[in-house]
Amino acid sequence: MNEIILLKLGEVVLKGLNRRSFEQKLVGNVRRRLLGLGEFQVSCMQSTIYVEPLSEDADMDAAFAAMQDVFGVVKISRAAACEKNADAIAGLAIDYLKDDMLRAKSFKVESKRSDKRFPMTSIQLSQSVGSALSDAYPDCVVDVHDPELIVNVEVRDLAAYVHAAPVDGAGGMPVGSNGTAVSLLSGGIDSPVSTWMIAKRGVRQIPVHFFSFPYTSQQAKEKVIELGRLLTPWCGDMILEVVPFTHIQEEIRDKCPEEFFTLIMRRFMMRIAEAIALQTGAKAIVTGENLGQVASQTMEAMAVTQAVTELPVLQPLVGMDKEEIVRLARKIGTFDTSILPYEDCCTVFTPRHPKTHPKLQEVEQAEAALDVESLVSEALEGREKIRL
Ligand code: ATP
Ligand code: MG
Repeated sequence: MNEIILLKLGEVVLKGLNRRSFEQKLVGNVRRRLLGLGEFQVSCMQSTIYVEPLSEDADMDAAFAAMQDVFGVVKISRAAACEKNADAIAGLAIDYLKDDMLRAKSFKVESKRSDKRFPMTSIQLSQSVGSALSDAYPDCVVDVHDPELIVNVEVRDLAAYVHAAPVDGAGGMPVGSNGTAVSLLSGGIDSPVSTWMIAKRGVRQIPVHFFSFPYTSQQAKEKVIELGRLLTPWCGDMILEVVPFTHIQEEIRDKCPEEFFTLIMRRFMMRIAEAIALQTGAKAIVTGENLGQVASQTMEAMAVTQAVTELPVLQPLVGMDKEEIVRLARKIGTFDTSILPYEDCCTVFTPRHPKTHPKLQEVEQAEAALDVESLVSEALEGREKIRL
């Protein structure tokens, strides 16, 4: 049987003039996601993307699953195709939707006709397919008001398609359609989720990880690489930047008052992230901060941290409860890796009594003992890029 996958576009459809380029981004992302699953043809017509297998070995199950992680798609259906005449369509519906028709107690047919030369109206076509299905499955009755099953028939330019209940797509916007940001990726639960949420809004990201070897282990780095890899189905290919952070942390420990350790460290993260953004054309910094979760996440602490950058700092988790974040982490598949017990640089040299309501001036004073500029350039020069 001639099967294809239909992807219905989400917000992309609303974007008027930008629509073309959004669709192209999405088609590119879909193609990339299908690599390794066999040969497919991907095309876009009338706000629907068609994924057609071209070879015998094209893995339709894997492709159908993969399409569920592509941002910008709201609904996904697996459909069967046939020639454009009412008998062929009815025959195909009887065959292809057998399991659905046997399971459901009621159904209705909804037809769409974008090929206006087709000799029946949509209503006539629905009636004709509906009565054929009724005859074939007498236990499933027609109910046009509240059917359990909706049978979709679409007559398009090249063929007619039959499909039943679509599944939900990932929603959001195609990655790459909304610019680039630098995303601070720790090994924790939160930052993979914040990266995912910003990818959902169509932003390509450059994950940056601060690495404090030997205070944090090689395994801690491997864990972050793995988290990055787990995100690529959603975020697309990414290049992880691993920034050596040890010297900066030791300098802070040796020269600054303990209560400001974390804040000063976070200001360095922001400066380095901004520098990487400038080099890569990124226009924002993404973090997994969450209001009130830890001492460095009070409003005053965030103000002090963000004072060193002019870029917008996007914190998509800011108003969420931990439980909601954990639920998302499980859904996107990063949770089990995030909870592996390796130290993060934030837990090295943690102050016993961190300042929760810091004033910018006192932090700036504490920081004056450091040669900020040369520490930042040293870290930037020492960074390692890892293709995920
Ligand atoms: P997470 O679970 O993401 O680690 P968290 O609740 O532990 O978050 P913090 O440790 O205060 O919070 O870190 C806040 C944010 O700062 C993180 O969400 C992340 O975006 C960034 N961050 C923290 N540590 C690192 C690191 N080693 N490398 C890169 N970014 C980091
Ligand atoms: Mg953390």
